Amino acid sequence: MNNIYDIAIVGGGPGGIASAVEASIFGLEKILFIEKGDNHSQTIRQYYKDSKRVDKDWKGQEVTIKGNVEFFDGTKESTLDYFEVLLDGDGIDALFNTEVYSVAKGDDGVFLMSTNNGEYKAKNVIISIGRMGKPNKPSYKIPGTIKQFVNFTPSECRGNEKVLIVGGGDSAIEYACHLSKDNNITLSYRRDTFAKANDINRDMIVQYDQEEKLRVRYNADVESIENDEGKIKVNYSHGYGVTYDRILYALGGTTPVDFLKNCNIELDENGEPLFNDKFETSVKGLYMAGDIVFKSGGSIAMAINHAYDILRDIMKEKG
Ligand SMILES: Cc1cc2nc3c(=O)[nH]c(=O)nc-3n(C[C@H](O)[C@H](O)[C@H](O)COP(=O)(O)OP(=O)(O)OC[C@H]3O[C@@H](n4cnc5c(N)ncnc54)[C@H](O)[C@@H]3O)c2cc1C
Repeated sequence: MNNIYDIAIVGGGPGGIASAVEASIFGLEKILFIEKGDNHSQTIRQYYKDSKRVDKDWKGQEVTIKGNVEFFDGTKESTLDYFEVLLDGDGIDALFNTEVYSVAKGDDGVFLMSTNNGEYKAKNVIISIGRMGKPNKPSYKIPGTIKQFVNFTPSECRGNEKVLIVGGGDSAIEYACHLSKDNNITLSYRRDTFAKANDINRDMIVQYDQEEKLRVRYNADVESIENDEGKIKVNYSHGYGVTYDRILYALGGTTPVDFLKNCNIELDENGEPLFNDKFETSVKGLYMAGDIVFKSGGSIAMAINHAYDILRDIMKEKG
């Protein structure tokens, strides 16, 4: 507890890993890396399907890497392996199964982090907890009796099922195409084109639909779902209902407002955190990296760039 780290990083995804590596390369000696899961990169492990293609320019957003941490196109597995090696950097103390509840700046200017495994102190803190801790849910009620068949990650899909996927971004398309290999898949999207998706995925979903490997329902709004003898009856706004074995929602993640409030970070009128161009929050010395910075649309490469900008700022402050 009397040990004061030069920097603590909360959240062990790409933003957190890049922050720890940059801190090590910039010469900070005592680096604490805190992850609530039993391993780094929980979003990649839970939300990416096995052997998923990982695009550096995710959603078609071209990013030039600025700092010392490279990033390349790959797969889920090659990306996880790469991050594993990066975490071996000098001076990085990694704590797993440790959830940070709050970060408070004391009168001495040192941050105190409260966790399920005790308290830790650091001179600077980077919060990189992403947004997938609480995935977006539909506004209608999910009946308790069918909850087990209503999912937000693809891992529960077993095969040989009639599955409805709801969403219109890259994740929804990738889930639909991948799961169509051994399931009967319908992808339901509110709009008439997949404007938010990247070119590869847009072409892929049109091709899969044309080849009848799956079915796409455009302009389809789900109004409610109900228990239909243990299956899920989906009521569409057009007035018809279809029964499925399972629903997978791919609607992105939410802002962890309670956590940010516990850190005394100022929020705007929409509940989004305020920060400057160096990703420093309203609390001096407390930064944010990765998806938490964006309401939607972050990427691994962007998270890696945040880490570099933040470390440069911290080093400048140190003189
Ligand atoms: C299905 C899907 C496919 C995607 N495909 C791509 C792609 O191909 N290419 C690409 O560039 N991007 C892709 N993305 C986006 C990319 O995954 C994110 O931009 C990236 O993971 C953001 O990194 P992050 O470090 O900000 O947050 P995350 O990766 O979400 O990591 C946050 C980490 O913080 C931990 N954490 C949360 N709360 C706490 C707490 N209180 N205390 C301690 N630890 C905590 C979590 O367990 C997690 O490990 C995809 C996203 C999804 C959902």
